[in-house]
Amino acid sequence: MAFEITHERDKCIGCGTCVAICPDNWELKEDGKSSPKQTSLEEVGCNKDAEENCPVKIIHVAEV
Ligand code: SF4
Repeated sequence: MAFEITHERDKCIGCGTCVAICPDNWELKEDGKSSPKQTSLEEVGCNKDAEENCPVKIIHVAEV
């Protein structure tokens, strides 16, 4: 099983929740918005929690 992460970065409000929940794969950039370190993953790990807890629901984790 593999997973693909989509992040609607233009809508990111930079709250840092995904980084706090899932620092393995999320980081805050210099412009104050987050980015995933990797978008194609073999294991979903904490990314599902990041998806569920993003306040503006712009993280999408899909099985591919
Ligand atoms: S939780 Fe959502 S809004 Fe907050 S930094 Fe992460 S992607 Fe951006």
